[in-house]
Amino acid sequence: MHDADAIVVGAGPAGLACAAQLAARGVCTLVLEKADAVGAVWRRHYDRLHLHTDRAHSGLPGLPMPRDYPRYPSRDQVVAYLENYAEHFALAIEFHRTVSGIRRSGGAWQVDAGSRRYTAPIAVVATGWADFPRRPTWPGQRAYRGKTMHSCDYRNPSSFEGRRVLVVGLGNSGGEIALDLAEAGVEVAIAVRGPVRILPRELLGLPILTWAIAQARLPPRLADAINAPAIRLAIGSTRGLGLTIARKGPRQMIAEDRRIPLLDVGTLARIRTGDIAVRGGIARFTAEGVVFAASSPGAERPAERFDAVILATGFRPDLRALLGPSPELLDTGGVPRTTGAATAQPGLFFCGQIPSSTGQLRQIGIEAEHIARLATHTRRPAP
Ligand SMILES: Cc1cc2nc3c(=O)[nH]c(=O)nc-3n(C[C@H](O)[C@H](O)[C@H](O)COP(=O)(O)OP(=O)(O)OC[C@H]3O[C@@H](n4cnc5c(N)ncnc54)[C@H](O)[C@@H]3O)c2cc1C
Repeated sequence: MHDADAIVVGAGPAGLACAAQLAARGVCTLVLEKADAVGAVWRRHYDRLHLHTDRAHSGLPGLPMPRDYPRYPSRDQVVAYLENYAEHFALAIEFHRTVSGIRRSGGAWQVDAGSRRYTAPIAVVATGWADFPRRPTWPGQRAYRGKTMHSCDYRNPSSFEGRRVLVVGLGNSGGEIALDLAEAGVEVAIAVRGPVRILPRELLGLPILTWAIAQARLPPRLADAINAPAIRLAIGSTRGLGLTIARKGPRQMIAEDRRIPLLDVGTLARIRTGDIAVRGGIARFTAEGVVFAASSPGAERPAERFDAVILATGFRPDLRALLGPSPELLDTGGVPRTTGAATAQPGLFFCGQIPSSTGQLRQIGIEAEHIARLATHTRRPAP
């Protein structure tokens, strides 16, 4: 007696897309979500967030984003779209269900959420990255008297007025949060530890994603070599800005390092005007701020005062707590070995767990369709 043919954990874009695709193939599907609404993570993203990928390539399977949305929809529009998506496909979702364990037993998957145990022949893990913010540490950090927070807790600049803020990391969150603060007149610096990759959001009037999709079949190195001159032209010179452009091109960086380049929405212009100061990596914290790493060993830069430090240091999912030790499924850091494909365990799938160069939401849609196709071979009728 199973609770459903398939249990999907998480009602973010990946969980919703999988549930809709499974249901479309007649697979009785139940979604378990720990929050009280769909798209919980999008609801708590910072206020100014708009999709970096364009609307046309960011919809989930079976229901495109509304045509009256702008090319780069806002956070609230994404949330409204996800709500509508769940409603449109009449997805069965149980909220306030925090899944704590997924185990194989008797040819099915046991999914534990609080005092409830669910079973199904198919389990899809669509828990995203947001629960796993990377929070690096530095010497002296405990003595720091200012405020430290991860980018996932940043909402808007209002509480930073009149303060000096350091944003750590020039990824998409770091770049946009620094821009948000600078636009609000907050004094902001960004700590950039190593070489970076910066892409324009659009190239020759087309979303950068359109180019990436058109070149998806090219080997990363070749695509990067072809695109390099146009990207250099679009980004302009970074000389004198304190930034070193990575040798690796964007496609290679995503494929090899799982790092998404910065899609610039105005940060670079603010760096050029000096509204956003660029610093190197952090060597250590002081009670009042930080000391940045010196360019030569042994030398030390003077300490700089910062009232707040925002760690835009990314995420790293670790699913070991959920799945237990599973070397056949997870690497040594707990990251799934594969996503959107058959795994080493029958009936178990991951969706949206590995960054894609052709848009994460788009990739989630592709993976959901693939998982649903594979899952129909595993399905057993629900009682
Ligand atoms: C700031 C930011 C901007 C982004 N912008 C774009 C963009 O422009 N374009 C793009 O394509 N991608 C973008 N992404 C990447 C990606 O598309 C989003 O992160 C997307 O939300 C991923 O969907 P998901 O369903 O995999 O994960 P999430 O949206 O994180 O959803 C996971 C869900 O699982 C639930 N959950 C987690 N653990 C459990 C548990 N144990 N039990 C029950 N429920 C659980 C969570 O509450 C959540 O609702 C962005 C990411 C970030 C962080």
